[in-house]
Amino acid sequence: DLFPLAVIGGGIGGGAAVLRAAQNMMRTVWIRGDRATARASRVKYVYNIDNMIGIHPDIVRGKVLELLQGEEHAAARAVVENAHLHIGTQDIVDNVVERVRGEFAGTVTEIEDKAVSARREGEVFVIETGAGATVKSRALLLSTGVMDEQPSIKMRTKAGKVIDDIRWIYPYANNETFLYCVICEGHLTREASTVVFGAGETAAQIGILFHERYGIPVAILTNGERFEAAEKTRALLGGYGIRAFESRVVEILDGDGEGPRGTSLRGFRLEDGTTVPARFAMIAMGLHRVYNDLARQLGAELDARDGPDEGKRHVLVEAATSETSVPGLFAVGDMTRRRGTSPSYKQIYTAQEYAVRAVNTIDLRQRRARREKAVPRNG
Ligand SMILES: Cc1cc2nc3c(=O)[nH]c(=O)nc-3n(C[C@H](O)[C@H](O)[C@H](O)COP(=O)(O)OP(=O)(O)OC[C@H]3O[C@@H](n4cnc5c(N)ncnc54)[C@H](O)[C@@H]3O)c2cc1C
Repeated sequence: DLFPLAVIGGGIGGGAAVLRAAQNMMRTVWIRGDRATARASRVKYVYNIDNMIGIHPDIVRGKVLELLQGEEHAAARAVVENAHLHIGTQDIVDNVVERVRGEFAGTVTEIEDKAVSARREGEVFVIETGAGATVKSRALLLSTGVMDEQPSIKMRTKAGKVIDDIRWIYPYANNETFLYCVICEGHLTREASTVVFGAGETAAQIGILFHERYGIPVAILTNGERFEAAEKTRALLGGYGIRAFESRVVEILDGDGEGPRGTSLRGFRLEDGTTVPARFAMIAMGLHRVYNDLARQLGAELDARDGPDEGKRHVLVEAATSETSVPGLFAVGDMTRRRGTSPSYKQIYTAQEYAVRAVNTIDLRQRRARREKAVPRNG
């Protein structure tokens, strides 16, 4: 069975591509990944989308409250008024799954497995899944995402054992006191002291931006690494009173809020005895992985500006179409960088826009091929 389109990735870019393909009535196979790929992806950890117009709990709340007027609904109104209705990335994908199953049954074939290899046989893409299924398609769209580097904290357990691990940050990452995305979450820091985890120019620039934008006290924690930044940047940090601390973090000081661990933060204790107060920590340590394995297997060009480690290189795509250097192979979302010098945002709305560009390009090419059959050039 040869599909016009295969989409690999069950996150935002994959979901946006599949909905567009379904709405174009393009028969599509969607390889959504498995539990392990989900756990290692960003889509799993965005619980409260807060920077997009249209995605806000109060829109739905307002509509439901309108329906619940009258004394007889007073109790229900109270429930809705206090309900936690935040929308996360997994909610968005679950909704796409429901919609394609309900509105476009028969158009999208879902495979809940990981794609482990991809190759070309002539004009056809051949994809193998973890369970050994083979999928063939004329066009292939990848949106397999990235994972951020996390700080390892050398913390002591209650029993006195020192464990140097990233696990200590999970409660804070899950409760948005550790942040990962300046555009999405940066505004949360607007009234609170913040540290930036990172040792280079990017961390320094984020610290400067927070200080300039929100007027908050900022510090940089390199967590044991040497701080490296341009002379001009160092001068500006000095001017703003932003210090870079190079000692390892040995304790996360949980906040004095009433919620469970991770819901509030007080600061950090360093190995040299310093205490750095902070209500938020922004992680700016770069990417741990760009999931580009399938693109690499197919020979797609990667962005060499990302450095020598191929596992951290973004896949280069054309801005107008999201096509990679391999004809018929498209890539969208966080794993990509558009050719040229304009920055590529890692955002839900950019992933969606570029997924739509890719699918509409594939659709146009397939319709053009039909036109040629309908009116042969020499006929
Ligand atoms: C903490 C945090 C908060 C954020 N908040 C916002 C926000 O408020 N607003 C906003 O616009 N953006 C936000 N973002 C960014 C947003 O989450 C990403 O831009 C978006 O999820 C990128 O979509 P993607 O499809 O590239 O990757 P993902 O959504 O991460 O999806 C990747 C998918 O690929 C699958 N996969 C991986 N490998 C394979 C394989 N081999 N086979 C099959 N499937 C595979 C995974 O299982 C996963 O389903 C946030 C990011 C973070 C980290």
